[in-house]
Amino acid sequence: MRIRQLPETLANQIAAGEVVERPASVVKELVENALDAGAGRVDIELEEGGVRLIRVRDDGGGIPPDELPLAVSRHATSKIASLDDLEAVATLGFRGEALPSIASVSRFLLVSRTADAAHASALAVEGGQLGTLEPKAHPTGTTVEVRDLFYNVPARRKFLRAERTELGHVEDWLRSLALARPDVELRIAHNGKPLRRYRGGGSLFEDGRLEETLGAEFARQALRIDHSAAGLRLSGWIARPAYSRASADQQHLYVNGRAVRDRSISHAVKQAYADVMYHGRQPAYVLFLELDPTRVDVNVHPAKHEVRFRDGRLLHEFVYRTLQGALAETRAGLGAAVTS
Ligand code: ADP
Ligand code: MG
Repeated sequence: MRIRQLPETLANQIAAGEVVERPASVVKELVENALDAGAGRVDIELEEGGVRLIRVRDDGGGIPPDELPLAVSRHATSKIASLDDLEAVATLGFRGEALPSIASVSRFLLVSRTADAAHASALAVEGGQLGTLEPKAHPTGTTVEVRDLFYNVPARRKFLRAERTELGHVEDWLRSLALARPDVELRIAHNGKPLRRYRGGGSLFEDGRLEETLGAEFARQALRIDHSAAGLRLSGWIARPAYSRASADQQHLYVNGRAVRDRSISHAVKQAYADVMYHGRQPAYVLFLELDPTRVDVNVHPAKHEVRFRDGRLLHEFVYRTLQGALAETRAGLGAAVTS
């Protein structure tokens, strides 16, 4: 076969293979866009675990009508303009890939209104084909509707699980977001029934969000951490060793506000607990690591689940020492009941 340029829709569907695994990944991308747009409240509605419908509505800044077609085009973003911007990126998004990818594998509708527009505009995309802009009633902000995920990609659709499982993934992700963003009101409804509401405008401890997200027992056993050194800050909560888990299900790490998995940091945390926790048990924690964005590369993974640190060894040491110090002060608590 001759070398040929792939049609844009096919290129988007290929990119979707990396970013859009299941309804939860669509919700993640849409809600992150809402947060990047400065939303104070985000509403998520799902039908059939998100497979039939995902609707995300925000009260953020909106998109001007003439930019709607760009928003669903490949490599189009308002968040960076140069390599320097990328190296210091502070928004959750920057790749300009999510909307075109999602729109290429669903029946997609984008409705948005900026504060100074007379009305909202709507743009539908189906099978990668853009419709025409239509006026629509909508308050300032954006609503994205994603129907029939993977309707045109049967191979992908086969990998979708039962409604409950897909919904569970969305709820897990939302919980981890709620921990990082107690300032934003988050609501989720499924098949017309409200499921959960995380109140906004607060901090993690004050409004009881730690209890809401990780449970009363975690909140009771949580040790507040806040330590800065060498331009690094580690804050959040770690559970006293008396509260341990059978699995790593309550290990939340955020780097500059982004939920990530990092083997080196998990290792540093485990090592800090090594002397105070029974073998085979897992610590529970919510940790926020902040550092200058130029010291961390977030452009490692299309879904941005992982980052790369410029000074990984120093970080490992910093996390280990901070937590070990905090835990050493609580040794008196050892020997209490082990819960799961
Ligand atoms: P990225 O987030 O990487 O920029 P996306 O494909 O997710 O790429 O979105 C493309 C662009 O569309 C964004 O850069 C932003 O300008 C705009 N956009 C998407 N969702 C929203 C939203 N909810 N509110 C305001 N603007 C949005
Ligand atoms: Mg985005």
